Amino acid sequence: HVVVLGSTNMDLVAYVSRAPGLGETVTGREFRTIPGGKGANQAVAAARAGAEVSMIGAVGSDEFGTRLRAGLTSAGVDTDLFRTVDAPSGTAHIVVDDEGANAIVVIPGANGTVTSLSPGDERLIATAQSLLLQLELPLSAVTAGAEAARRHGVRTILTPAPAQPLPPELLAATDLLVPNEHEAATLTGLTDPRAAADELLRHVPEVVITLGAAGSLHAARGTDPVTVPAPRVRAVDTTAAGDTFVGALAVALGEGKPVPDALAWASSAAALSVQRPGASSSMPYRTEIDTA
Ligand code: ADP
Repeated sequence: HVVVLGSTNMDLVAYVSRAPGLGETVTGREFRTIPGGKGANQAVAAARAGAEVSMIGAVGSDEFGTRLRAGLTSAGVDTDLFRTVDAPSGTAHIVVDDEGANAIVVIPGANGTVTSLSPGDERLIATAQSLLLQLELPLSAVTAGAEAARRHGVRTILTPAPAQPLPPELLAATDLLVPNEHEAATLTGLTDPRAAADELLRHVPEVVITLGAAGSLHAARGTDPVTVPAPRVRAVDTTAAGDTFVGALAVALGEGKPVPDALAWASSAAALSVQRPGASSSMPYRTEIDTA
């Protein structure tokens, strides 16, 4: 059983040939609303990868909220403790240009109301095998979640995104930290992934740094680092590649797969997702990952 404590956003995406500068207006090509948020993405990824998943977070009592909740439910994610609050649902306002480069404004909205855990949240976390955390909810809730997991012997897997300095209490309650290269560099000031991993191991016992098309690097105290290459595929949309990777990794580790196998399985899942457009819509199901 995987519990995710995290964000849910509606991504409002404008596709343009060239992004406007400040004070400028351009005519775009297309507009899409796509369910997202790192928490919800990881929950859907883990559910499709075959785990029983529960989500703790919040949406607003608006149309986006209704759609976001329905998206989780239809992916098979349990939303019994997922709150509907009196605030606008979180939104991400995204401009994507013809090169695939993007500019994003995130308005946390309802996500920002999740500042602490209820007793029910803690009881749910206590039943989990792992708790997935990211940094799109208030740090007070993320830290409370990690500490609750620690009290109950539940493995905590933290995606430190968007990158920001981490409170020592949060690091102290993290079992596995999964930054991408950029986040690892922001956290440590070191651009070499191996050096960054060594530095991060001073604070947490286990680290996986995702390296995009170059794969991923695993490091743990007292073991030699392992690099697992990514399958060579033609990427059409790498949105939520990292979330797909983490969701699948949590499932594989929860099933007791050895680390190299778990990384390879998560890499297969992420490689499938980058070959298809969209965020949660691009995430593979277990049978696809097993046969990739
Ligand atoms: P994020 O999506 O958080 O920026 P990465 O870019 O590191 O993180 O991607 C996460 C994982 O997704 C990688 O470790 C890799 O397994 C997979 N991945 C990303 N881009 C590609 C690609 N072009 N080809 C194959 N796998 C990829």
